[in-house]
Amino acid sequence: MIDLHCHSHHSDGTDTPERLALLAEAAGLAALCLTDHDTLGGIPDFLAQQSKVKVRLLVGIELSCRFLGRSLHVLGLLVDPADALFQIRLAELRGRREDRNRRLFLRLAELGYPLTREDVQAQADSPLLSRVHVARALAVKGFVRRPQEAFERLIGDEGPAFVPREELSPAEAVRWIREAGGVPVVAHPGRFAGGAFHWDEAMQDLQREGLEGLEGYYGEYRAAEQRYFVELGRRLGMVITGGSDYHGLNKPGIRLGSGRGGLRVPDALLEALEAQQRRGAWN
Ligand code: AMP
Ligand code: MN
Ligand code: MN
Ligand code: MN
Repeated sequence: MIDLHCHSHHSDGTDTPERLALLAEAAGLAALCLTDHDTLGGIPDFLAQQSKVKVRLLVGIELSCRFLGRSLHVLGLLVDPADALFQIRLAELRGRREDRNRRLFLRLAELGYPLTREDVQAQADSPLLSRVHVARALAVKGFVRRPQEAFERLIGDEGPAFVPREELSPAEAVRWIREAGGVPVVAHPGRFAGGAFHWDEAMQDLQREGLEGLEGYYGEYRAAEQRYFVELGRRLGMVITGGSDYHGLNKPGIRLGSGRGGLRVPDALLEALEAQQRRGAWN
């Protein structure tokens, strides 16, 4: 069993990278890929654990893109953490996130919920501030009872305080990831759209933009969704990946490796992913 999608407290998870490596070892995983949003800040501490554990520790990233007017998440699996251009590009993304946060705080103040950057930073263990930390700060200030209520009433994608972030196009995300030696993968397509959505067409459009894989196994999928996306990936000749999207206490009920309990991501997927990475390196 492997897990190719999880977050540390360097983005919106609550565990240290060291603890993630130890949890993966305890869960008996063969490999774990750390995929924080917009940052490789947790990678040095994560890789430093490799001498102490048998589980293979792999490097990844999760980027947000604009697709069909909505936010589509793209994983960059097996990117090179020493790639200087990629680090500069990620710093640019974090700058855009800071711009968004400033406008978000302004919007919240206008709606009667004043928060300072310091209020929000107090809820985070790293400089990257996400809406998860904003939600917690709103709860600490007593503006909402629980962080989840902040998403429901204010800062969720459809909420009155929602401020969009300037996002990459899928083609840009693909280029950044490939130039850093990684494999670009559509993260949790079932969360972008499920049900009646015409995934065949949309996924083929994404393939034309350069997306090489899709997340067929996911911590929050039901059995039918997993079957659907694994089959879709096979039909389109895409690499299939899988992970829990573990966020620690920020996503209660999701465990590293096993998701809600039933997730089993086969080891063989990693071999196919690495073969795809080698093919990419020749192009
Ligand atoms: P950001 O990248 O700062 O825009 O924050 C996005 C993060 O907020 C996501 O990765 C989720 O962890 C979280 N999030 C977004 N929408 C919701 C929601 N409706 N309920 C709970 N968490 C959410
Ligand atoms: Mn997240
Ligand atoms: Mn995501
Ligand atoms: Mn994620």
